[in-house]
Amino acid sequence: MTTLSRSHTAEANVLASLDPATGEVVGTVPVTPVAEIPAVVERARAAQAAWAALGLDERAARLKGAIDGLKAAADRIGELISREMGKPIGDARGEANHAANGLAEAIDECVEALRPEVREDDRVRSTLVYDPLGVAVAITPWNFPVLMPQECVLPSLLAGNAVILKPSEETPLCAYEWFKCVAAALPRDVFQIVFGDEAQGKALVAADVDLIAFTGSRAAGKHILSVAGGGLKRVILELGGKDPLVVLPDADIEAAAAFAARNSFRNAGQVCVSTERIYVHRSIAESFEKAVAEKARTLKQGHGVEQGVTLGPMVNRRQKEHVERQIASALKEGARAIAGNEPRPGNFVAPTVLVDVRPDMTIMREETFGPVACIVRYDDVRDAVRWANESPYALGGAVFGKDVDNAERVARQLHSGMVGINQGCGGAKGTPWVGAKQSGYGYHSGRDGHRQFAQVRVITRPLAARIQD
Ligand code: NAD
Repeated sequence: MTTLSRSHTAEANVLASLDPATGEVVGTVPVTPVAEIPAVVERARAAQAAWAALGLDERAARLKGAIDGLKAAADRIGELISREMGKPIGDARGEANHAANGLAEAIDECVEALRPEVREDDRVRSTLVYDPLGVAVAITPWNFPVLMPQECVLPSLLAGNAVILKPSEETPLCAYEWFKCVAAALPRDVFQIVFGDEAQGKALVAADVDLIAFTGSRAAGKHILSVAGGGLKRVILELGGKDPLVVLPDADIEAAAAFAARNSFRNAGQVCVSTERIYVHRSIAESFEKAVAEKARTLKQGHGVEQGVTLGPMVNRRQKEHVERQIASALKEGARAIAGNEPRPGNFVAPTVLVDVRPDMTIMREETFGPVACIVRYDDVRDAVRWANESPYALGGAVFGKDVDNAERVARQLHSGMVGINQGCGGAKGTPWVGAKQSGYGYHSGRDGHRQFAQVRVITRPLAARIQD
């Protein structure tokens, strides 16, 4: 979990966002005093009824009014993402443009999910309606500081809730730019923003709100669930991961290694569905390990805004120290580094490939969230599956093998909420983003995910024939 004191400074009620590559102040926002949060919630509640009364189609039309502004701001927002959390500029602009260009389709998908649905049997006709819950909170992390808010806020607003966004203290500026574009299209107080760290997050969870949609660490998620449970508030938690990659003996070694490197080092490993545990069959392990190490060495590390940089810094000093501690403990426990593990200045960590890793090492049990590929060799795929499933995390995963049916049989045995075969874990359009076990509690996206931001009600009437009875 991040705290203001580590990489950000909160003085005189101002939150300064720091560039993790240089330590420079990128900009500031006013901190929302905790004491003001009940008033923010009250304003949201006062605005909610009229927003709900507009109806689903009108709410969608209003939200579509944000598209042009968001498209115009996307490159600027992308630059802020890169400067606030270190993501390479191409990826950062990609995130902001994806949010802007995908907004219309995302709205349509939510509308489709939230329309009333009729079910009939030989007796009655029931209409399922998706009503607002009331005041909803979205608490989001820094690693996808625009996409995460968009995914938690859109279905909530479309369901007729008033929404309060609390973006990460690491990335308040890009989140604010995104927020302003969306809020400009909506009636006053329907969408508000609160700046601060976990103190503001906790105050929102404790406030008189009806839904908490949280994306972040498992530890914070557990805390939120325990507090929200006292008031039986609705909660949707998208939490951390420790994704396995199982490389079968018939895998295309080059493709598997390319995926392993990309998915271990993307966003400097700071992705909830990063590949954090690799199980490779002994018969192909040597070539695979060599290929991953070669790819790690081709990465260009530097300030994310510089052209050509493919690997940025850790978001802050604390995250760097956490990753370095895990690497050091793995080496002490018997692992070998065949790439990386060299000192780097500031918040940078060299992309590191560890081999001779065992499933019981600390680095295979706790979330790393850094640019480290950890490779375990196996002889029997049943061991690989058992090790993969030993974790309390079960977000994403991948299986590589040329016999796709066999790879799918292996994938089916993994506990992960999402598993990709010869590719990453993201599903087709309209599928949920879902963490199993302790990687999630509820989920978002897809028809059923969008519906979790609403209260379903069932209104039942007799069929015409019965009325005449
Ligand atoms: P974090 O849990 O430290 O913080 C996330 C947000 O919650 C921030 O806005 C923070 O201020 C707030 N917060 C922290 N503690 C809180 C508490 N007790 N009550 C209320 N609010 C609180 O996480 P982070 O460091 O910002 O993000 C990294 C984590 O997020 C990783 O574990 C990563 O795997 C996870 N993540 C998961 C997904 C997913 O879809 N499952 C996506 C992105 C990130």
